[in-house]
Amino acid sequence: MVTDQLNSIIKNSKNILLVSHINPDGDTLGSMCGMYSLILDNYKKKCEMVAVSKIPSIYNFIPYINEVKFIDELDLSREYDLVINLDVAAIDRCADAKILFEKSKYTINIDHHETNIGYANINVIEPKAAATAEVLVGLAIDLGWNISNETALCLYTAIVTDTGCFKFSNTTPKTMEYAGKMLNYGVDASEVYKNCYESNSKNMVLFQSYCVNKAEFLHNDEIAYTIVYKKDLEKYNSNGEDFTDGLTEKLRAIVTTEIAFVVKELSPNVSKVSMRSKSVDIAQICSALGGGGHKLAAGVLIKASPKKTVELILEEIEKRIYD
Ligand code: AMP
Ligand code: MN
Ligand code: MN
Repeated sequence: MVTDQLNSIIKNSKNILLVSHINPDGDTLGSMCGMYSLILDNYKKKCEMVAVSKIPSIYNFIPYINEVKFIDELDLSREYDLVINLDVAAIDRCADAKILFEKSKYTINIDHHETNIGYANINVIEPKAAATAEVLVGLAIDLGWNISNETALCLYTAIVTDTGCFKFSNTTPKTMEYAGKMLNYGVDASEVYKNCYESNSKNMVLFQSYCVNKAEFLHNDEIAYTIVYKKDLEKYNSNGEDFTDGLTEKLRAIVTTEIAFVVKELSPNVSKVSMRSKSVDIAQICSALGGGGHKLAAGVLIKASPKKTVELILEEIEKRIYD
C-alpha cells in the first residue's frame, strides 16, 4: 500500500524538504504548510520548506508560512533523506529545487494535475481531486494522522483557493466533505475568504481593471485575452507582488467567453501564459506548447515576446478548436 510506504519513509527520514511550485498559489502553499504541520504533529519532526519564487503577501496568514525558506537560502549541494513535492505538476515547475529533488534519497510527489507523469519514487496523484490539499486530507484520514487547527487552516485555504471558493467545476461532493471536516477542526470560513479575496491592494484592483479594459476579443468574443507588459506592471506596482492572480477569471466571467488567457511579459523574450476555459480542454493546448495543467485551467511558459506568444497560442487554438 502506498500509504504504508509513505508512512515508513517519513518515519525513517531525518532531513525532509517540502517543495512548492513556482509562482506559488494557495494550494501549493497551503498543502506544503499543511504537510509541515502534519509531519510536525504526527512524527514530531520539523521539515524544511522551500519557495522558488515570491510568496504573494495575501498568504501571510497561512500557519507556518514564516518557516518557508527561499531557494537562495538553501545549500543546493545538500542531500536530503526525503523531498516531497506538493502541487508540482512537472519537475521543472519547482525551478532550482529540482536539483535537491534529484539528489534526494527518496522522493514523493503529491498532486492532482492530470498532466503529472509521476516523476518521483512514490506518486500520489489524483486528477479528480480539486486540490492537492484534498489528496492530503484523504492521506491524513487513511493514515489516521491527527489534524490540528493549524493543519486544517492550511488545507482548507488550499481547497478554497483551487476551487475559487467551491465554484469551479472541479468541486465535488468529496471536496465539500473534506473542506467541511476542516471546518470541524475550528477553521473560520469567512476569515479565510476575507484573507484570500478581500485583501488585495488598491493598486492591484486598479491594475486588473486596466488590463480587462484593454482586452482583445476574437471569434465572436469566444476568445478573450490581454497582455500584461512589464512596464505597465511596474507603473502600478513597486514591490514585485503578482498583480495578475485572478485576472484570467475576470475575462472568463464574460458570458460569451469560451477561452480566456493572459500573457504576462516576464522579460522581453519570456512570457507566462495563464489560460482558463468554460468547457474546452485547454490542458492539451498548453501541453502542446510545453506547459500543462487541468482541463479548464492551464498554463505555459514560452520563450518569446508577448506578441509572438499570443500568435503561438492563437495558432494552437485555431488548429485544435476551430479547425
Ligand atoms: P495559473 O494560470 O498560473 O494559475 O495556472 C493554471 C494551472 O496550469 C495550474 O494548475 C498550474 O499548475 C498549471 N500550469 C501553469 N503553468 C504551467 C506550466 N508552465 N507547466 C505546467 N503546468 C502549468
Ligand atoms: Mn497550484
Ligand atoms: Mn492545485
